[in-house]
Amino acid sequence: MLQPPSTNRWQQKIPKKDNIFLRRVIRGRLPVRKVLLNLVANIPDTKCPLCTEPEETIPHIFLKCTIAQFSWLRLGLWWKMAIPDFNTMEDVWEWLDNCKIQGKFKKHLWVVIIAILKSIWETRNNKVFNEKEKTKEMVFEGAQAKAFN
Ligand SMILES: [Zn+2]
Repeated sequence: MLQPPSTNRWQQKIPKKDNIFLRRVIRGRLPVRKVLLNLVANIPDTKCPLCTEPEETIPHIFLKCTIAQFSWLRLGLWWKMAIPDFNTMEDVWEWLDNCKIQGKFKKHLWVVIIAILKSIWETRNNKVFNEKEKTKEMVFEGAQAKAFN
């Protein structure tokens, strides 16, 4: 398995709390519905809470869901980069490892990517637990604000 950038050279740049979150994303241990179904039997359904996709998986919520797709598109426009259509989280780390930008910008891009993942996850949890909705613009703007904190 490919190691995400967080576990090697950029680890020290990331707050501990973010590292824990990332490890759970990487190891498939975030409680998305499809993961929960394997742990407990009484999950009412495995539908994505944010769209109509029948299975909420980690790659779906962070890469394929409408809010995720919008965030990756906006990231590409913001950074003036072609962002590929990622299918797995490993695709993201591999792309970041190989993308031809200067080291200091790459570190910042990594911080932005973590902020996007966190913003998506918070939005998802707010919908599931508090019935609060956010627009895809709000999700991306939330990630931008987080990246600069
Ligand atoms: Zn979805």
